[in-house]
Amino acid sequence: MTDTDVLVVGAGNAALCAALAAVESGARVVVLERAPEAEAGGNSRFTAGAFRCVYDGEGDLRALMPDLTDAEVASADFGTYGEAQFFDDMGRITEYRTDPALCETLVTRSRETMRWMQRRGVRFMPIWGRQAYRVGGRFRFWGGLTVEAWGGGPGLVETLYRLAREAGVEIRYGAQARALLADDDGVRGVEVRQGGRTTALRAKAVVLACGGFESNPEWRTRYLGPGWDLAKVRGTRFNTGDGIRMALAAGAAAYGNWSGCHAVGWDRNAPEFGDLAVGDGFQKHSYPLGVMLNARGERFVDEGADFRNYTYAKYGRAILAQPGQFAWQVFDAKVLPLLRDEYRIRQATRVRADTLEALCDKLEDVDARAALATLRTFNAAVRTDVGFDPNVKDGRGTVGLAVPKSNWANPIDTPPFEAFAVTCGVTFTFGGLRIDAAARVLDEAGAPIAGLYAAGELVGGLFYNNYPGGTGLMAGAVFGRIAGTSAGAFAGA
Ligand SMILES: Cc1cc2nc3c(=O)[nH]c(=O)nc-3n(C[C@H](O)[C@H](O)[C@H](O)COP(=O)(O)OP(=O)(O)OC[C@H]3O[C@@H](n4cnc5c(N)ncnc54)[C@H](O)[C@@H]3O)c2cc1C
Repeated sequence: MTDTDVLVVGAGNAALCAALAAVESGARVVVLERAPEAEAGGNSRFTAGAFRCVYDGEGDLRALMPDLTDAEVASADFGTYGEAQFFDDMGRITEYRTDPALCETLVTRSRETMRWMQRRGVRFMPIWGRQAYRVGGRFRFWGGLTVEAWGGGPGLVETLYRLAREAGVEIRYGAQARALLADDDGVRGVEVRQGGRTTALRAKAVVLACGGFESNPEWRTRYLGPGWDLAKVRGTRFNTGDGIRMALAAGAAAYGNWSGCHAVGWDRNAPEFGDLAVGDGFQKHSYPLGVMLNARGERFVDEGADFRNYTYAKYGRAILAQPGQFAWQVFDAKVLPLLRDEYRIRQATRVRADTLEALCDKLEDVDARAALATLRTFNAAVRTDVGFDPNVKDGRGTVGLAVPKSNWANPIDTPPFEAFAVTCGVTFTFGGLRIDAAARVLDEAGAPIAGLYAAGELVGGLFYNNYPGGTGLMAGAVFGRIAGTSAGAFAGA
């Protein structure tokens, strides 16, 4: 006797894509969400909803976004993002460690998975505000990241929940999966705790899509290393590694970059976990337009090494490694209008002054004299003979600095000056479970564990050291859909 065909653990993007795909296979589906309904939706709900997907120019984008008007298309240069570019980005950004089979699935199924979501009822739009600058009256998109869900993460999750309910999926809130029910023949359900009671829920197949371990300070310290207990969590407080722990206990293999994670510059005074009212507003991602100073008043990374899409996910770690685990991002009036919206939220930790001296005095916990000297040295090192262009890697760098800035370097010399205090905000962890191309969870001998599938953050092997922006939702959708289809087929067999 089973209670359902497919049991999906978690209720973020990966889980709901799995649930929708399992229903398409004719399965009865139950989704277990640990969070209460008001906080449901996992990290997916905290996102900006950006998806990195392959597209071959305007035609693909029009198919994905039928709402696009002719005027909008005429006002934009979307460029293209081919499979080769996506492969290149995944290889380069992960230092060629990404699992080739998983990466191939992600890249080659990204376009069709987006179309599937769109056919199911998810609406997309171009990321006008964050991924494009206006040049000569046209929006020019950069960095391979062009599409976002309507309403960002909250809009995406709301739509997926509605579609799941309409498809007959039962979603149980406040239901925490605690252990897999497994025997020699595979997985047969989960032990679930809900309303203070623990019960067994039997299913023909289980999909684990309940996130990484970023919200578990003990595991962060154990696997990411000392100091990671001090990081703030950008998203949900419910991703504490339950799915990974349950699967390992059932014999699953650990895989991927267990000491690695996605972590960014995040407001120094942000709360311990994400705040749904602020969403991703605590992030501070315009550092390529300025410089970052630590407590000693020193720069410590090349802020302009690459587009922010390709550096932001690793600079959180660099900030965590600084004394006191914080930094100040410094800008002048020339670039203030170019800063992303998140710099204008009421909760930003900001100081402002009309001279560099006064600004440095206001940088809390920083050696002001050293900071001023660093800024002056930086200003003198900028190659002002090269033009500034935020749409391309403009090569306007510095000369002779121990820590160079390779692009978008401008002397910080025009008042008013503003600075923003950031610390490390952890987004999600990279290590997790090993799956095959059908999203089956593999055991330590490399054999699939019958009836067990996984998708989303808790899958290891895709990301190492760093991450190209917009790939988390895309990977969750691609592998969530595959996991749901596989689990549905297994349950029906
Ligand atoms: C602030 C922020 C902004 C981001 N922006 C982007 C972006 O624009 N684009 C992008 O691609 N990625 C972005 N990411 C990363 C992205 O959120 C993740 O890669 C993706 O959402 C992961 O999806 P998921 O379904 O695997 O996990 P989640 O969406 O986190 O879902 C996990 C679910 O499992 C539930 N759960 C946990 N434990 C249990 C349990 N024991 N039993 C039952 N349920 C459980 C949780 O409550 C949650 O519902 C961002 C992340 C954050 C935090």
